[in-house]
Amino acid sequence: MNLILLGMPGAGKGTQAEIIERENKIPQISTGAILREVGQSNTPLGEKVQEFLSSGKLVPNEIIVEMLVDRISREDCKEGFLLDGFPRNIDQGIALDDAKVSIDKVIFLKISEDEIIQRMSGRRVHLPSGRTYHIKNNPPKIDGCDDITGEALIQREDDNPEVIKKRLEVYYEETEPLLNFYKTKGQDFHEIDASRTLDEVRTDIGKLLT
Ligand code: AMP
Repeated sequence: MNLILLGMPGAGKGTQAEIIERENKIPQISTGAILREVGQSNTPLGEKVQEFLSSGKLVPNEIIVEMLVDRISREDCKEGFLLDGFPRNIDQGIALDDAKVSIDKVIFLKISEDEIIQRMSGRRVHLPSGRTYHIKNNPPKIDGCDDITGEALIQREDDNPEVIKKRLEVYYEETEPLLNFYKTKGQDFHEIDASRTLDEVRTDIGKLLT
């Protein structure tokens, strides 16, 4: 089962992707998490990537498309995978088609902008694993610590109001057109109301995947 999760930044893609990964035994491929790791490395590529991350702009397709296609060609993706944060624009959608990657379902997590701002400002991340929490809606067992490793959680540099605004602009301009791209192509497309609780959204996604 090859899946794509679409939705505004902060819609809960990462959180739901972790659950789908656990329950359906398919790896979650988060391009944001991959890029945050690259951005931490002390290399020319790392520095370049970090500039895009900090500004809220998309990393150029030349950098991310090859990384993604390479990632999903690995052994652990043979039985399926879940893309979280890719494709992010029409050209990336076309790149998946060109690479002959078949997609079984596209799941769109729909949410309002007001809700997004509230969610992103409360988000905390465990950088090495990409696990995400929310201080109110999905708190860690111990304040400020990852549930599995106990390591420190951070607030993403791009989860501040100014960068959130930029990321939403980028979403409307570049990512939202993918909804029609997949609908008009006859893709198995599902819209889920993501403004509800984590468990309600999870139940609906679970029904789609059984
Ligand atoms: P995310 O964790 O999905 O919110 O992504 C965080 C940041 O990583 C984005 O604001 C972009 O700068 C970058 N990014 C993630 N996925 C992509 C992608 N598919 N194409 C380009 N940039 C991306």
